[in-house]
Amino acid sequence: MLFSDIPRLRLLDQDTPLEAAPRYGAAIGCPRLWLKRDDVMPLGLGGNKVRSLEFWLGEALAQHCDVVLVAGLPASNLCRLTAAACCRAGLRCIIVHNAPGPEAHPGGNGRLNDLLGAERLYCGAVDEYQRAYFVREQAEALRRQGLHPYIVGDQVVGALGYVAAATELLQQAERRGIDLRHVCISASAGPTETGLLFGLHLLGGSIQTHLISVEYDEATFWPICDTIYQGLAQRLGVVPPVAMGENTHFYGGYLGEGYARPTPAAWEALGRLARTEGVFIDTTYNAKVFAGLEDLCRQGAIPPDEAVAVIHTGGVPSLFTGC
Ligand SMILES: *Cc1c(COP(=O)(O)O)cnc(C)c1O
Repeated sequence: MLFSDIPRLRLLDQDTPLEAAPRYGAAIGCPRLWLKRDDVMPLGLGGNKVRSLEFWLGEALAQHCDVVLVAGLPASNLCRLTAAACCRAGLRCIIVHNAPGPEAHPGGNGRLNDLLGAERLYCGAVDEYQRAYFVREQAEALRRQGLHPYIVGDQVVGALGYVAAATELLQQAERRGIDLRHVCISASAGPTETGLLFGLHLLGGSIQTHLISVEYDEATFWPICDTIYQGLAQRLGVVPPVAMGENTHFYGGYLGEGYARPTPAAWEALGRLARTEGVFIDTTYNAKVFAGLEDLCRQGAIPPDEAVAVIHTGGVPSLFTGC
């Protein structure tokens, strides 16, 4: 078995839904459209990070750690879901935010972090490297107190969750007789989309994967993806028969002005999906993916007679920010 030697804490006890979206599909010229609802999970309002946390916290428990550190902006879904998973596992959770201090009116994930009882530290509005340094210093201080901290975020370990997700998606499609030809997902920091790509290349052969950037340009993205892809091959002891860049398409053109800055097309896609299917998406990640999907269908890059699955990675609590 692919994962038999790898520590894993089960946080999901069943497959997430694979749902048809016929009214939205008809509206955008993509009639054979399926939504892989990774936003629908019992733990902490769900999202892609739950799958990665199965392996991160699995590793933390295998190493007998007693306190978990995680870093992100106050709006981070990773921080919220780490806090929730730590509640499940009975672990203490410390969140480090690269922000000046507590939000005046915590909404969205910030509010949920408080309700989950996570300890929150603020290291100022610094970049990710300075934040990582601050986190390592905190871990050192905890070690001096005799504690065993675990820092969440190893990209290869996190990517394992989406190798598993690829397996789940392909089995679901097969059971339902869906001849899946295309999979669309956001491209951001790397673990989620690279894990999915690795899994699809290992098992799904000729499926076309469409990576829609919500953060980096192509030149920045590929080296990150390559490092994770190779790390997965090493960790799992298998090399997919399909190379990383094969059957893979990266799109930088739907990013707009940058990370977490929604484009008009993203808002339009968000509204269209809500009104046709009653499904919500977030503006940082998934709305840009759906905006990209709409354009790819319009251009004919995704032909109307071919089945498509879009991975809904969650993040919907961010719609409640500032409430
Ligand atoms: C973190 C996140 C992503 C991106 O995952 P990466 O592994 O960083 O690419 C996508 N969608 C949501 C909702 C997220 O929280």
